[in-house]
Amino acid sequence: MNLSKTRVVIVGAGQAGGRAAEALRAAGHTGPIALLGEEAHLPYERPQLSKAILLDHEPNPAFIRSAQDWAEIDVTLCTSSRVVAADIERREIGLEDGRQFAFDQLLLATGTHPRRMPELEAGPLPVRYLRCMDDALALRNALQPGKKVVLVGGGVIGLEVASAAIARGCHVTVLEKAATVLPQIGSPTLSRYAETLHAGKGVNIVCGASIKCSAADGVELEDGTIITADIVLVGIGVEASVDLAHALGLRTLHGIKVNASGATDIDGIHAAGDVAEQWSRCHDRWIRLENWANAQNQAISTAKNIAGEATVYDAPPWFWSDQYDANIQIVGHPGGGDEIVRGDVANGRFTTLSVRDHEVVGGIAVNSAREMSVLRRLVASRKTVRRSDLENPQFELKRTLA
Ligand code: NAP
Repeated sequence: MNLSKTRVVIVGAGQAGGRAAEALRAAGHTGPIALLGEEAHLPYERPQLSKAILLDHEPNPAFIRSAQDWAEIDVTLCTSSRVVAADIERREIGLEDGRQFAFDQLLLATGTHPRRMPELEAGPLPVRYLRCMDDALALRNALQPGKKVVLVGGGVIGLEVASAAIARGCHVTVLEKAATVLPQIGSPTLSRYAETLHAGKGVNIVCGASIKCSAADGVELEDGTIITADIVLVGIGVEASVDLAHALGLRTLHGIKVNASGATDIDGIHAAGDVAEQWSRCHDRWIRLENWANAQNQAISTAKNIAGEATVYDAPPWFWSDQYDANIQIVGHPGGGDEIVRGDVANGRFTTLSVRDHEVVGGIAVNSAREMSVLRRLVASRKTVRRSDLENPQFELKRTLA
């Protein structure tokens, strides 16, 4: 089969789907490409949802391309188009409105959806989640000065929204189930730093919080405490959107398993972005990577494979979070080994390195972007390191790359 002329259908018009469509054309694919998305908006990148959309003077959504630009590269972009059916025998995708799309190659970029909290949804206060542009625009409108905001979950959404809500003059409480915020990152140093940073800005952080239910004027904890709230936002993680994968007969546990080419177990079906479960050497297990860099680069790599250009994607995970003036960057698995801390945590300028078997498998750079560029190369290189070097404050990190 001439791969460059095959019909490609991409389900999911988020960052992964959008970047894959562009990359297919860039790789010389000349056959039809349909990009199907449920949201009414053009494809966009999500970092703005918990940052710029909430913070900027005017809400100014940024889109990957204009409708005209999609037409110019001959991508059939269908927004407000919910996919409800998939037939592997006929190799056809069906939309809710009855339209059918035949494919030779299918890319599933269906992403994730927020884990819900039914114990709060049953109560009188509306419960918000933050996943899409409309959620972010509505949250922005709600974050008015003086409002009491309760954020359930002290992960990246909870802490980025806390930072935005403080900037907008709100009173903020973060309720985290674990003993520290950002527990999933696995760095006690970062967790302590983040707690101090937020407490210093006036955020009330409650760790070890066990939510009981919604009360008339807030959230009730199991110990009977009521945290009063005007706005409740739940950010307790996400689940992969795999209904379509199941309909196609793909096996999924936490996501759609793919190899380093983005291919699933079924010939002609690939997956990319948040929904794809990949082997992570840094984590030493299968994992879904829920970040911008993966949505971009794993999707581009997968698109190249679909276009017939053999490409492997095995970059260590990397993401960043902006909270107040702090820029936090994370590579690999900071909790995957012994933690070495360099720099000045109290002054908010430091790095951590996670060392496993003489190899750096992860790290964090706070307000130290230059150190992160070295760290990313170091983690990718798998070079053997000496702990004593890394623990020596006089030792320049870039020497590990020599
Ligand atoms: P997250 O980063 O996984 O954090 C969820 C937090 O909620 C965890 O600390 C979790 O603790 C806690 N939690 C779980 N159940 C809870 C409960 N019942 N009560 C209180 N806390 C509870 O997920 P998220 O903040 O919801 O973010 C969702 C997605 O958006 C993620 O994929 C994230 O990567 C992405 N995102 C990324 C960025 C960025 O890259 N800067 C920014 C925003 C969002 P345990 O771990 O102990 O369960």
